[in-house]
Amino acid sequence: MSETKENQVIETYGENAFSLRVMRNYLSDAAFESLGKTIRMGSALDASIADEVADAMKTWALEKGATHFTHWFQPLTGATAEKHDSFVVPDGEGGALLKFSGKELIQGEPDASSFPSGGLRATFEARGYTGWDPTSPAFIKEGPNGATLAIPSVFIGYHGEALDKKAPLLRSMEALNTQICRLGNFFGIESESKRSMVTLGSEQEYFLVDRDFYEERLDLIQTGRTLFGRTPAKHQQLDDHYFGVIKTRVIAFMTDLDRELWRLGVPARTRHNEVCPAQFEIAPMFESLNLAVDHNMIMMETLRNVAEEHDFTCLLHEKPYAGVNGSGKHNNWSVAGPDGKNWLTPGDNPHENAKFLAMIVALMKAVDTHADLLRSTVATAGNDHRLGANEAPPAIISIFLGEQLFDVMEQLEKGSASSSKSGGELKLGVTALPILPRDATDRNRTSPFAFTGNKFEFRAVGSNQSCAGPNVVLNTIVAEALDGICTRLDADMAAGKDFNEALQAVLSETVRKHKRILFNGDNYTDGWVAEAERRGLPNLKKTPEALKVLLAEESINLFGKYNVLSEAELKSRYEVYSEGYEEQVAIEARCAITMAKTSISPAALEYQSELAETIKLVEAVGISDVDGTRELLKEVCSETSKLLVGIKTLEAAEAAGEPVETLAAMESLREAADALEGLVPDSIWPLPSYTEMLFVL
Ligand code: ADP
Ligand code: MG
Repeated sequence: MSETKENQVIETYGENAFSLRVMRNYLSDAAFESLGKTIRMGSALDASIADEVADAMKTWALEKGATHFTHWFQPLTGATAEKHDSFVVPDGEGGALLKFSGKELIQGEPDASSFPSGGLRATFEARGYTGWDPTSPAFIKEGPNGATLAIPSVFIGYHGEALDKKAPLLRSMEALNTQICRLGNFFGIESESKRSMVTLGSEQEYFLVDRDFYEERLDLIQTGRTLFGRTPAKHQQLDDHYFGVIKTRVIAFMTDLDRELWRLGVPARTRHNEVCPAQFEIAPMFESLNLAVDHNMIMMETLRNVAEEHDFTCLLHEKPYAGVNGSGKHNNWSVAGPDGKNWLTPGDNPHENAKFLAMIVALMKAVDTHADLLRSTVATAGNDHRLGANEAPPAIISIFLGEQLFDVMEQLEKGSASSSKSGGELKLGVTALPILPRDATDRNRTSPFAFTGNKFEFRAVGSNQSCAGPNVVLNTIVAEALDGICTRLDADMAAGKDFNEALQAVLSETVRKHKRILFNGDNYTDGWVAEAERRGLPNLKKTPEALKVLLAEESINLFGKYNVLSEAELKSRYEVYSEGYEEQVAIEARCAITMAKTSISPAALEYQSELAETIKLVEAVGISDVDGTRELLKEVCSETSKLLVGIKTLEAAEAAGEPVETLAAMESLREAADALEGLVPDSIWPLPSYTEMLFVL
């Protein structure tokens, strides 16, 4: 990179975000100090500085060409929401002033009646409020002819009930912070006026499709995935796309994408071709969880926008194409303690290692106790097509620790008995851990929840999902597990026991109880499914059964105890997600019916009549050997009949509102249509093929 270009990246990095660095130039020292403390410590916002901050934000936003501001929030639809208000206020003399007050910054009042609330607003009241989240910087959304100041916000009801994804995320971070600091205290780690930070790096997979093909596919436009399409001869079998040379048109897109993200302060870092042709990945540098979640939402929006500029459409659906890999989002999660260190990094002395092992054991306890709940966080109509499809982890949640750490767990389990592999005795606070080479922990790509050296990677998250939900659960269940361990230790300390021995005892016991969650083998095999069943691990295959876990008493108690979600909030989420699932399946069914009726069957019938006509004409000139053509016609007729019957079956299933049967009927309809695609001439077939969509970029 030439020096000027390098400077350009550095100069434009974050130029569209109202970050601490920018604020320093727009705020008084006192206000900057106070807001900085709120951002770093999550302490309450000093209301007296709100007007000054609003004014600073306005000044900055106007310089960026903004005419409007919006509270930007994340309702339960899983998308983001914004309602713009202009800064313009008439001055009473026929002119205008540009105004933005602290009150407007802190709270917005969008008409919330059309957002899904799962009945929450029927029991409370119709209004919803958006509230500024100062811990995530405001940013500029550029449009073709102007810009808008976007203010990351929570979305809550009149009595503070959460109507969005951010409010419970912040609450879960608070719950985990409390327990992390508690654990830290046992290790002499100061947490007074300090806090821990959950860190997240989310690797995002996506597909690109040429815009012209996209526009000819009603299914892609309406549902985000292809409901029909014959698998081409060559797709991903040769693995020649993964990490392959990036095509010129795609790298042009990626270059613009990175630049846009950097301008917004989103730390895009890694980009590469994925396994399936036309599939790619972008990964950011990890950040504090709340910010990382917002940045992932911005990233998905930027992916879509920049794709349009390059005459592509970006497909974020978990399974845009059948028969080839789908897309996920690897949720890399860790905790930096109040000492600023990553607590999932093995330490370089036995004391730190004891803390590291306490964290690992807490994770085991959390994930084993609430495997079903963790599974429920990735339950969507789109992700159902991906989980367990031999490319993505199965719906069975288990933990991969790698051989060495697994061995350490076995030693811990036996108390301080001498170990099998590494020999010697493992005594917490005394014995050094074997060195855990990072690459040794990152080999199993089939596990849904893998320890990867200094973080856990939850791989079942769908590409189109917000990361908020999975992390709300992860934070809360780990908080609960740590709470249990710390409470035991408190009692032991009060009874005058030795700390290392007490810790050893509680970890040992916990490992014994939860070891069944550990699995280092191949999660894609039938053998594992049987083994998991034997171990009593839940296998919630599809969304409806997975979502039911939200209504379980254990879930209600868990979220209630840690003030993350009240019973009413949890139930409302169940309602919204279940309805969303059913609606999505119904939309797909209706779309499939329309396509089958109005484009696929007409093409099949046209070819039938062409063949029949041909047979008639050939026989008329005295050639009687038309057996081959007749056979072909019969085959086309037979598949067309199946298609027409399939339409009726699907119509009935959809009308009955039965998602499982509807999905099965869509599958059969698709079989007939895909068979026809292999028979009907390309010139008549109404839809772009998989070959075109996957290979022509
Ligand atoms: P890969 O999983 O492809 O081997 P890496 O492990 O290097 O790649 O990183 C994957 C993602 O994990 C990146 O977004 C990275 O920033 C993130 N990551 C790395 N360290 C942490 C951490 N301590 N906490 C959260 N995420 C992290
Ligand atoms: Mg990874």
